Amino acid sequence: MARVYNFSAGPAMLPEEVLHKAANELVDYQGTGMSVMEMSHRSKAYDSIHRNAEVLLRELMNIPDNYYVLFLQGGATTQFSAIPLNLLNGSGIADFVHTGNWSKKAIGEAKRYGTARVVASSEEKTFTYIPPLDKSTFTPNADYFYIVTNNTIYGTRFNTPPDIGTVPLVADMSSNILSQVYDVSKFAVIFAGAQKNIGPAGLTIVIVRKDLVGHARDITPVLLDWKTQADTDSLYNTPPCYSIYIAKLVFEYLKENGGIPAMQARNEEKAAILYDFLDQSDLFKATVAPKDRSLMNIPFVTGNEELDAKFVKQAEAVGLVTLKGHRSVGGMRASIYNAMPKAGVQKLVEFMKKFEMDN
Ligand SMILES: *Cc1c(COP(=O)(O)O)cnc(C)c1O
Repeated sequence: MARVYNFSAGPAMLPEEVLHKAANELVDYQGTGMSVMEMSHRSKAYDSIHRNAEVLLRELMNIPDNYYVLFLQGGATTQFSAIPLNLLNGSGIADFVHTGNWSKKAIGEAKRYGTARVVASSEEKTFTYIPPLDKSTFTPNADYFYIVTNNTIYGTRFNTPPDIGTVPLVADMSSNILSQVYDVSKFAVIFAGAQKNIGPAGLTIVIVRKDLVGHARDITPVLLDWKTQADTDSLYNTPPCYSIYIAKLVFEYLKENGGIPAMQARNEEKAAILYDFLDQSDLFKATVAPKDRSLMNIPFVTGNEELDAKFVKQAEAVGLVTLKGHRSVGGMRASIYNAMPKAGVQKLVEFMKKFEMDN
C-alpha cells in the first residue's frame, strides 16, 4: 500500500488508524449485518454512534453544559447564512475582523440581513497578519462579533480569542478546531466544516451557547434555525450518518492519543520544523508575520513562479502531494492538520533542503 503525505488544505488526511477501523467495520458494523451507510438514523446502533460522537467532542473540547453541540450539513458556508438569520436580530449590526476569503464570504451573507461593519482588516497586505484590534471602534450593542480563528488560505491565526467584552463572539474554526486548546466559554458560537480537522466532508459542527438559540427571524428556513436542530438532537431529518461515524472514530483516536493538549504539542513541534527551516532558507520564504503564524496551514514562496511549479511537481513525484498554493497567494502551501505525521513534515523539509541545493 502506498499512502502519500497529503498536504491538502481540505478535504485533508485522516489518521490511518481511523481508516483501518472504518474499513474493518465497513461491510458489517458490529454484528448488525449492515454498514453504517445503510442503517436507519433512528436505529439503536446509529443512535449510539450519534450520542457518543457528541459526548466525545464535549469531553475533548471541554464544552460547558450551557452549549448545544449540533451535527449539521451544508458546510461552514451554510452557517455564513444561518448566523445572521439566528443572531442578527437585535441592533441588526455585526462587527467583523476581515482576515481573508472566508471572512469576506461571511460578511457578504450578513449584509443581506443587516449591517456588517469591518472593524479591522489586513487586506492591504494580502492578509499576511492578524490586524490589531481597537476596542473603541467596536459597536457596543452589536448582535455579534465575528472572527476566523485560522485563515486556511493565508496561514494566519488568532492564538487566543480577542477580548471583546459582552458581545457574543462567533468563530469560524473550520481549519483549526481540535488542533489547539481554546476555552470554549470565551465564544458564543464556534462552527466548523469537518473536512479539515474532523472527518469527511458533509458534516458541519456548530457549538452554540443555549441562550442564543430560539431567536431566529421568521423567514429562517427550518433547517437553518438552530432551535430546530437543538430540539431534535440534530435528528430533525437524516443527518450525515457516515460522516458523523467517522468523526466519532477521529474523536476516539484523539482521546486515546492524549486529547487536544497532546495534539497542540505535536502540532507546535511539526509547525516549528517547517518554520525554522523557512526562516533560515535562502530560497524559500514564509509569507506570514511570525506572531500570527498558523499551526495548520503554512504558505511559502520562492519568489519565482517557474521554480514554484517545478518544486510542486518534483515533490509530488516523491509522495509529497497537494503542495500548490492557493491562487490568491501563489507559491506553495503545506497544510499540516492533526492527521499529518511528524515524519511527513520532516520528509518535506528534507526535500526542500535538497531542492534548495539543486537550485
Ligand atoms: C474550508 C473553509 C470554509 C468553507 O467550508 P465549507 O465546508 O466548504 O463550506 C469556511 N471557512 C474556513 C476557515 C475554511 O477553512
